[in-house]
Amino acid sequence: MRVMATIAGVREAVRAARCEGRRVGFVPTMGALHEGHLSLMRLARRWADRVVVSIFVNPTQFGAKEDLSRYPRPLERDLELCRSAGVDGVFAPEVEEMYPPGEVGMELSIPGLTDVLEGAFRPGHFGGVMRVVAKLLNMVEPDVAVWGRKDYQQCCVVDAMMRDLAMPIRNVVLPTVREADGLAMSSRNAYLSAEERPRATALFKALREAKGMVEREGETDPAVVEGAMRRVIEAHRLTVDYAVVRHPRTLGELDCLEPRLTGGVVGLVAARLGSVRLIDNVVMGAEEESR
Ligand code: AMP
Repeated sequence: MRVMATIAGVREAVRAARCEGRRVGFVPTMGALHEGHLSLMRLARRWADRVVVSIFVNPTQFGAKEDLSRYPRPLERDLELCRSAGVDGVFAPEVEEMYPPGEVGMELSIPGLTDVLEGAFRPGHFGGVMRVVAKLLNMVEPDVAVWGRKDYQQCCVVDAMMRDLAMPIRNVVLPTVREADGLAMSSRNAYLSAEERPRATALFKALREAKGMVEREGETDPAVVEGAMRRVIEAHRLTVDYAVVRHPRTLGELDCLEPRLTGGVVGLVAARLGSVRLIDNVVMGAEEESR
């Protein structure tokens, strides 16, 4: 496995692979890797002959009051995990390589998509995500980019950006990997105390309840489903940022839940537990759980 810190290094490695006729798959991450990340790396093989992972804690997607400085950075352990997952190359640049000092960056947004839900609670977040993703995709130039459905809105945003910029890269979105009790795996779960950890299942339980209401009971009123999700989360003493059911692609509000007409609906939740902010989602009423 090659470890590369420079843009020139990763470009050269990917071009060499392509010259040999290999398809290149790319899994962008912020490190502190867990089984969710590793599943993306292993499954990337279905679409690619060579798998490149980036490990970069992107400062531009963190708000001023967010956890940039305390975000875990266990690089040696991460490299070992990438090796064990059969990754071919890791791109792990320093901040100065990605954002040369003095460079004035773009401000990116997609009205209606980057200013709602996560975008409303984390102003500037998706601008930072789009900027780093556009840079990384231009540096690596993969054939396929692989994303986790855990960050559902991010998948919608990245997809919309790549379509708008006509990027010749295929996106693949893979299912959320969960702990045995349903909690979606996240690097931020490490912040949870022993007392908070069981309560963090509230998000999954709320989404499971919503899925049952929509799929088994045929509930069509979004307010009823949203109210039920909120009650489950609050019963676990979390503070709800949002608990909503939306259109699966536009994330727009729905007057009536008709999953057969919209190709499913998506439940999205975000809640705070002490200093930890958790997000999760589930697709309901779709033939196959996909975006
Ligand atoms: P992050 O390091 O949090 O930026 O995540 C890097 C990639 O891993 C993103 O595409 C995430 O959606 C994905 N990911 C994070 N957690 C999970 C999970 N529990 N299951 C599947 N994919 C995940």
